[in-house]
Amino acid sequence: MNLALWLQRSALRYATRPALLRGAEPVADYAAFWRQASCLAAALQARGVGTGDRVAIFAKNCPEFLIAFYGIWAAGAVAVPINAKLHAKEAAWIIGNSGASLGLCSSALAGVLASAAEVPIVDMESAEFQAMCQGEGLAPVERAEDDLCWLFYTSGTTGRPKGVRITHGMVRAASLAYPVDVDEVSPEDAALYAAPMSHGAGLYAAIHVLRGAAHLVPASGAFDPAEVLELAAGQGQASMFLAPTMVRRLLDAAKAAGDKGSGIKTIVYGGGPMYVSDITEALDWFGPKFVQIYGQGECPMCITALSREEVAGRVQLGSVGRAQSVVELAIKGGAETGEIMVRGAPVMQGYWENPEATEKALQNGWLMTGDVGRLDAEGYLTLVDRSKDLIISGGTNIYPREVEEVLLQHPDIQEVSVIGRPSAEWGEDVVAFVVGRADAAALNAFCLDNMARFKRPKDYVFVPELPKNNYGKVLKTELRKRLS
Ligand code: AMP
Repeated sequence: MNLALWLQRSALRYATRPALLRGAEPVADYAAFWRQASCLAAALQARGVGTGDRVAIFAKNCPEFLIAFYGIWAAGAVAVPINAKLHAKEAAWIIGNSGASLGLCSSALAGVLASAAEVPIVDMESAEFQAMCQGEGLAPVERAEDDLCWLFYTSGTTGRPKGVRITHGMVRAASLAYPVDVDEVSPEDAALYAAPMSHGAGLYAAIHVLRGAAHLVPASGAFDPAEVLELAAGQGQASMFLAPTMVRRLLDAAKAAGDKGSGIKTIVYGGGPMYVSDITEALDWFGPKFVQIYGQGECPMCITALSREEVAGRVQLGSVGRAQSVVELAIKGGAETGEIMVRGAPVMQGYWENPEATEKALQNGWLMTGDVGRLDAEGYLTLVDRSKDLIISGGTNIYPREVEEVLLQHPDIQEVSVIGRPSAEWGEDVVAFVVGRADAAALNAFCLDNMARFKRPKDYVFVPELPKNNYGKVLKTELRKRLS
């Protein structure tokens, strides 16, 4: 089933309801949203984009991004969304790797991409794009479960990004799990795009389209906490996906402004570790608005969830919750702690033209996530770390996350990241990169009071900020490089 059918149906059912907004300004109701997307589909076909062909989208968040998604899908083609913060050369590499035949860009990026990539580029803010969204539309081209709709390029914390093959069936499964496991959606709600549409926030568009909710795109196209708070207040029932670092920034801005986030219905957080001290502070300030999810491009947004009630009740806050309805979850070898494996309808069938990586990731029908976790008797999964981040010191496993959780309880620490440094004596030593005012002696004493001696960092490196990728994930590979 082509995902674009959901938009075509919503155009009938919710024709005059607001669909797309740029800031507070309405851009299209559902009838207009579908009309533009279906015309774009026809225009893409007229330019030679055929079934299964790839079309790149390199843009900041904007309403046109959603028109592009649905136009590409309706045409039977495959969207290749690229994070707008990538360098034009990196974007061009993705375009080359995916074999995209056309790029749709925001104005600011169209010029730089045109000089780096060898495909025609259409500026989504131009009269040319507007014309493509007018005229005769077409009905969604027939697509099957296993047909591709999205090539999702991993954020690449190590090496070159890999293209996850996301199908219409995967997005449908992940979307239908959302109201069951994450949050109900009604036509009165709005999806607020605070995080990049090229990633999980974009994936959440589908269920909001099906339910006829509004799509609220900040005019800045980026994450500005003050703008998010103001937009949400104006709308009244906004839901958004935020990475943990964004929750922290939103909280700081809200506290500074004395704003309790009245217009925010739900904040879904995930994509990286949320420390217990941070989520507790966010709950104290904003109230029961939070749901956690754990997923990865290979099983988008859809491995586990920790419900609103659980988060609000401070139940298993250090965990990532329990398996979502549409997946099975297991630990490799049936152990209590080990590599997390997942299988089910939202799991990918492989990477784009990368059989070696596919073979590594998919074993006996399971996706090997590369994350290490602990599954308890009640089904709660606690992520301990990426398997490659595990520190082995003196033959004992040390999970950096555990050390980070403790250090973050120190009032003078803002951010911390713990890695292993090669050591002739111990195999690896624990080293903590710290943003904050505390000194090493005080931190050492604090660790002695709160954790096993062998887990204690041997060294502290004080830094003004931690290196992060475009999705706000700490780049441990970069920290390791600094140490060596
Ligand atoms: P990506 O494919 O870019 O979405 O990255 C997925 C990775 O982010 C996962 O494999 C985890 O290592 C991490 N991750 C995602 N969700 C969570 C979460 N709720 N808590 C901790 N780490 C997470």
